[in-house]
Amino acid sequence: MSLVTYSGFPRVGLKRELKRALESHWRGDSNATALLDTARTLRQRHWQLARDAGVDVVPCNDFSLYDHVLDTAVLFDAIPDRYRPVFAENQLDGYFAMARGHKRGGHDLHALEMTKWFDTNYHYIVPELESGQRFSLSGDKPVAEFLEARTLGLDARPVLLGPVSFLLLSKTVDGSERLALLDALLPAYTELLTQLAAAGADWVQLDEPCLVLDLDDRARAAYRRAYAVLAEANGPKILLATYFGALGDNLALTNDLPVGGLHVDLVRAPAQLGPVLETLPPERVLSVGVIDGRNIWRSAPDRLLPLLREARARVGGDRLWLAPSCSLLHVPIDLTAETGLDPQRRASLAFARQKLEELRVYADALAGQPEALAALTAQQAMLTGQAGLAGVVDAGVRARLRELSPQITLRRSPYATRRVAQARKLALPPLPTTTIGSFPQTDELRKARAAHRSGKLGDAAYDTLLKQEVERVVRYQEDIGLDVLVHGEPERNDMVEYFGEQLDGYLFTRLGWVQSYGSRCVKPPVIWGDIVRREPMTVAWSSFAQSLTSKPMKGMLTGPVTMLQWSFVRDDLPRETVCRQIALALRDEVHDLETAGIGVIQIDEPALREGLPLRRADWPSYLAWAVECFRITAGGVRDTTQIHTHMCYSEFNDIIEAVAAMDADVISIETSRSRMELLDAFVRFRYPNGIGPGVYDIHSPRVPAPAEMGDLLHKALEVLQLDQLWINPDCGLKTRNWAEVKPALQSMVACARQLRAERELPI
Ligand code: GLN
Ligand code: ZN
Repeated sequence: MSLVTYSGFPRVGLKRELKRALESHWRGDSNATALLDTARTLRQRHWQLARDAGVDVVPCNDFSLYDHVLDTAVLFDAIPDRYRPVFAENQLDGYFAMARGHKRGGHDLHALEMTKWFDTNYHYIVPELESGQRFSLSGDKPVAEFLEARTLGLDARPVLLGPVSFLLLSKTVDGSERLALLDALLPAYTELLTQLAAAGADWVQLDEPCLVLDLDDRARAAYRRAYAVLAEANGPKILLATYFGALGDNLALTNDLPVGGLHVDLVRAPAQLGPVLETLPPERVLSVGVIDGRNIWRSAPDRLLPLLREARARVGGDRLWLAPSCSLLHVPIDLTAETGLDPQRRASLAFARQKLEELRVYADALAGQPEALAALTAQQAMLTGQAGLAGVVDAGVRARLRELSPQITLRRSPYATRRVAQARKLALPPLPTTTIGSFPQTDELRKARAAHRSGKLGDAAYDTLLKQEVERVVRYQEDIGLDVLVHGEPERNDMVEYFGEQLDGYLFTRLGWVQSYGSRCVKPPVIWGDIVRREPMTVAWSSFAQSLTSKPMKGMLTGPVTMLQWSFVRDDLPRETVCRQIALALRDEVHDLETAGIGVIQIDEPALREGLPLRRADWPSYLAWAVECFRITAGGVRDTTQIHTHMCYSEFNDIIEAVAAMDADVISIETSRSRMELLDAFVRFRYPNGIGPGVYDIHSPRVPAPAEMGDLLHKALEVLQLDQLWINPDCGLKTRNWAEVKPALQSMVACARQLRAERELPI
């Protein structure tokens, strides 16, 4: 009989209990005991829920108070010296100091860097290592959580980040080779494995997601060495877990490693089942990741059952484990909380709990249980029926997509011509100044939005309040002398949700929270049907704002790739097709803005880079359709209409050609945090169009001095032309307050004026 298991569960709780407990603790409103109690309650509730769903073996140590990579670093004592004094005072304070900085009791520590966990929206804390780094086992979290599960009568498998992925996900402060630290790290892992075996663990799961990446010889050698050493540890049997992609050219290497079991992702990479079965060493357990841990749709029995049967025929039921493709961290917890959804739509969804239930049914069906087989037949019929539900297919959009010609991605003239036309029409000064869109979301605004949502504040009153805010923002920008104005986006809660709510094809959950980092959660909207724009979405706000000023008002849209990337996307269409549908809806919006007299339109694509596939070989095709979608959105306008885009990251070197191919007239990017390092990309590649490398780091409450911004601009001018440079902050200002924003923007304008004066340009 095949075993049902999973490799990790959402930590935050259905009602974000962990978030509340953490934030209360950080505010000083509750002590550590209260926090740890909440954490334990959540762990135990989730285990119980899994057991009730029919799971045979649960993971443990998948829980984390903040992040599992940070946990690993702390577990092996990879704590940078500057945090040690805080640790010495209090373990938990030290841990949170690494996660989020610490400014108390004479300490003033920055947080460690944070970055995206592979291609997910989860962010992990990047361990900071150095040459000569020492490691030692300095905690008992995995053992303690194993014993905790055992006390509850559960069969539990401790989960750890594997040593090679741990090193590859870390950074060294001195630029030394991370993998050179392997031999120093392995004894600590060995000791832990020994302790887990002594505590009674039969299996341990070592996550090595880096095995689905392009690896060089050094990394491959590290894998061989690491697992040869760990095999000697006398620890539990090792389940080597890979996910987020295919093993591909690392399959032979993986098969060579002396481990007891292998977990593979058959959702992202179903085609690897054949080669994996072909080459699986005898005796090895195969854990098949067949239920999507990254999306929220019920699985298709028609596709899955044959695959499972094939696997069972090859490895035998006892050596076959059934699991989600990856940790369930990336999906919401429980669909039963979504009482507001249309029942027919809801039937096609599965959150973490439902996914575990599905696995049980598959395992029972494999064992030939008639009820389980019947349930799967019913599930398939339901899914087949979904295709016929109203809204899944919109004939109009489908026809438009079929008839798309390459022409649709083209502006009427090349940039050089547009530039002249725009200069004549907009009459901007050299080195024009602008902002990225949002202005501070004051408490008053947030309260009004909440009151409006709950029906306590009427439409008219809410509208009046928003209009007053727009007017205030416009007057302010005029007063300080910005050149291209924005309306401030006070009507928006979230840059994806705001548009999703106005488009057909989207639905929204009530408690569909997914952890983004630490206590931060997002609630991605769900794209379930064809995307149709019912009516203009932003034109009224932009026109109102433009009516208040004679300066150009920038219209503000979220781009198609970002709309896609930050949603749960239907899986009955290729992602690129869904993206093209969004692009068409936004293209109509761009057209309506232009017709309404908005001459500058910004299409934000902050998520373009994060959509990059994990393997380099897959980049070109992604970039091709992502760029195409942007161009569909922007391509319909006149030469005189200036298209801007905005991206908030600083790694451009490897995608600069694609960014240029978007052919926006102006791009604003993040640079101030990296002190313009990203401009290296522009040394190698001469970016042809307008560009505003952010001079004000809005992620920090610090207000930069004019001289600092001037400094950054001078640096920028070493690689960019004067006549292509724009002056703007890094990103939208919505998370800042007015007291910070005012002096910063005033300095920014002053800095632009000074630079113009220096170069003897008109001010
Ligand atoms: N226009 C958006 C804003 O200013 C852009 C946000 C973003 O880049 N993430 O808030
Ligand atoms: Zn941004």
